[in-house]
Amino acid sequence: MNSVVKIIPQNSHRFRDGEREMLFHVPTSSVFELDQASSAALESPNASDVDEALLDDFQALQIVGRDSSEKSTIPDIGDLPLATLVLNVNTGCNLSCSYCYKEDLDTPANSQRMSFDTAKGSIEMLIAESPDQPRYNLVFFGGEPLTNMPLIKEVVAYAEHRFESLGKPVDFSLTTNATMLTPEIVDFFQQHRIGVAISMDGPETIHNKNRITVGGQGTYHVVRRKVDYLLQNYNARPVGARVTLTKGTTDIEAIWDHLKNEVGFDEVGFAPVTSGDVSDYNLPEDELQQVFDNMKALGQRYIDAACNNINIGFSNFHQILTDIHEGTKKALPCGAGVGMVAIDHAGGVNLCHRFTGSDLPLFGSVSSGLDTDGLKAFLSERLDRADKGCNTCWIRNLCSGGCYHESYARYNDPQQPTYHYCDLMRDWIDFALQGYARIMRENPEFIARVIAPRRGTQ
Ligand code: SF4
Ligand code: SF4
Repeated sequence: MNSVVKIIPQNSHRFRDGEREMLFHVPTSSVFELDQASSAALESPNASDVDEALLDDFQALQIVGRDSSEKSTIPDIGDLPLATLVLNVNTGCNLSCSYCYKEDLDTPANSQRMSFDTAKGSIEMLIAESPDQPRYNLVFFGGEPLTNMPLIKEVVAYAEHRFESLGKPVDFSLTTNATMLTPEIVDFFQQHRIGVAISMDGPETIHNKNRITVGGQGTYHVVRRKVDYLLQNYNARPVGARVTLTKGTTDIEAIWDHLKNEVGFDEVGFAPVTSGDVSDYNLPEDELQQVFDNMKALGQRYIDAACNNINIGFSNFHQILTDIHEGTKKALPCGAGVGMVAIDHAGGVNLCHRFTGSDLPLFGSVSSGLDTDGLKAFLSERLDRADKGCNTCWIRNLCSGGCYHESYARYNDPQQPTYHYCDLMRDWIDFALQGYARIMRENPEFIARVIAPRRGTQ
């Protein structure tokens, strides 16, 4: 017997790829092509000529329902599969970038360095908490991590030996402002395959707006010189540029062009600031719209190039294509507190590197151990979407409410979803789905060569 069939709008999103009608299935983050019958059934599911078997399939996929009651379940967190530690090796930085968000940032003279005992204790805590991970990652963070190279060298030597004795690979990475790079350090990175990302904001005029010395001088020339040396003498892993976009800086294509084509980075990634502690630097609404429009313009160049089997190295688009291709279903926005925690210089366990020095309570310490119950309680709060707009949002399994730190900085509540740019995010993901469908149709080889091998990388 026929009962009234309703579309469940939050479980599917339809889009076009040229002539093709496509469907993004939200519960599984999968992309399907719709045939004519399926498309017609989704237009008018209660029409008399709709095939019952098709509706049963749709019901099994939760795209349509004969029962209008909404069900919201909170996934069980289970064990916390900790595999990554961010070590804040020094609160001090030799620069004084005007937009810096670090609450525990110090000048070099007042900097607080992590001790080797704390770093070693952190690694032992990681192994004790999560002995069964297939591989482990250590990320060096600051301040400026290169201000504590002696510790980085000690930690690398200790960790290589310790993880080798367990038969497990360990991977190292860091983000640096590049100003303290030396040939000896580059050599060390090469020998130990340490992943390197460089904070650089674009051509001289843009970079020098905010990335300045303590005395207020622009740093473009020194960064450029050091990066040139790095790119010529280091090839252990691809080197990416991380660009911070603040008020007045929206020209993504020009920045990408400079960093990719003139400087020679392998990849360029953009971080728009919407909720920095220094609110003067936040992108106002109209500029944030421009940023997303310009991200789409660069995304279009990415798609066109990918169809010709060329990778233009736009990290944000790589990431979203990877999520779509892998069918990522994020119950939480990122690995913070689940697969990764950050250890501050004194050994406190923080949700992630952006919370060190903040008022958010710690989740244990290297000496007392990980506060697993506290972390699970914190994460469960975000997992509960029942009273949040995210519950009915079609990108909920890719966005998951957004970055805790952005919410913390903007609303003083890390659990509040980042509602201030939901429409822009949905439009960006709709655009990425269209790009993914086109690349898969015109040149699936690109996805196999460039996107699929990124599985498990960040
Ligand atoms: S924060 Fe906004 S875009 Fe993200 S899942 Fe929630 S409602 Fe959707
Ligand atoms: S909370 Fe935000 S800053 Fe921290 S890891 Fe997650 S996305 Fe990144």
